[in-house]
Amino acid sequence: MKKVAYMVSVMLAGMLICWSIGQMSGTKKATSSTPAVVLAAESHKATPLAQAKLDYQQYNYAKSLKSITNDDSTKAKALKKEIEASKSDLVTWNDPDKYSHLFFHSLIVDPTRAFTSQKGQGYKDYMVTIGEFNKMLTQLYAKGYVLVNSERLVKKNDKGELVFDGVSLPKGKTPLVLSQDDVNYYEYMINSGFASKLVATKNGIKNEYIDANGKTSVGNYDLVPIVDEFIKTHPDFSYRGDKGTLAVTGYNGVLGYRTSVSQYGDTAKTKRETTKAREVVAALKADGWNFASHSWGHLNMKTSSVADVKLDTDRWEKEVQPIVGKTNILIFPFGADIGDWQGYQDNNEKFAYLRQKGFEIFENVDASHTSWGEMTTKYYRQARINVDGIRMTDDLNGTNSVLNPFFNTSEVIDSTNRNK
Ligand SMILES: [Zn+2]
Repeated sequence: MKKVAYMVSVMLAGMLICWSIGQMSGTKKATSSTPAVVLAAESHKATPLAQAKLDYQQYNYAKSLKSITNDDSTKAKALKKEIEASKSDLVTWNDPDKYSHLFFHSLIVDPTRAFTSQKGQGYKDYMVTIGEFNKMLTQLYAKGYVLVNSERLVKKNDKGELVFDGVSLPKGKTPLVLSQDDVNYYEYMINSGFASKLVATKNGIKNEYIDANGKTSVGNYDLVPIVDEFIKTHPDFSYRGDKGTLAVTGYNGVLGYRTSVSQYGDTAKTKRETTKAREVVAALKADGWNFASHSWGHLNMKTSSVADVKLDTDRWEKEVQPIVGKTNILIFPFGADIGDWQGYQDNNEKFAYLRQKGFEIFENVDASHTSWGEMTTKYYRQARINVDGIRMTDDLNGTNSVLNPFFNTSEVIDSTNRNK
């Protein structure tokens, strides 16, 4: 237990936002009343032609054509013609350096509550509001971006070497990787104007949110259901159903469920939370989301010893992997990479261990380029751009223009709430 306590203190000292999580006294439990889901139900299964149209819109031309091979209706013929025309005008994105990657933290539901809380400045710096995110999505879509999951971009050849496998998109479309860090709904964020968990409902994946008056509701209160809803109405924003990567730690459990046995005990409650978390994970995976390790204890892997990196990785494998499944993606907490720009050398013990544990895609943070990627036979490393208050402020100040290709900051930023 001593080692666990030590690791938690390491994690606290190094939290991205350097916050302590000892803010649990004001915790209010969610009521067990039935949440009011007021969203349109998915009424019927798509017809083969409708499914073929969706596959076409999401750039899966072969699948679309195959499913309507024997359909000689006028509509099917027109679709076949459209697909053949699109197929002849594709651009293949085969440069690993050209995939832009934007990442977010939890979205703010109630800016007043978040920005006036004790950690208000941290939330202003590292988070964006739902209102801001919605405007960003609209602009990203208008500019032709298409969401592609990074695990799709690598595959193994027959020699077991990693090779790049870029996607093909129509002219004018640009692939974009999206991720969300710390999808844990940490204890310190309770009662601060954020969603409290992800839930699987018959209307899709939603969030539970407890408002300032303590009322619980279920709806689109964070990135996942908001992106899901957006893609329902803009299917061509997603490459073959891809949505994004959810990076999770383990010390407060995952997705809002307190699943950590080392922190919450091997109790019936922890088991129930684990069962619920697994249900949500299954729904998320079926819905186009994948998972990344964000370490167990939000560990700074750059400054930590090899021994601590191993200990933390083992703990993630023990407590988180059984819930979210195996993943080959590691998203470095704090963006703190285990190597420099020269790449991972063979004598890099941290890399050797992480690779042995199955990690092949390594994601750091770098807002100096719109995209950066490095491909070797052993790993794919990508830089991500933090989309948050700091980045938007730098953009408005003219000190960093990296966001310009993605959206117009002055049009999306919620200055009213941020300057209150
Ligand atoms: Zn993080």
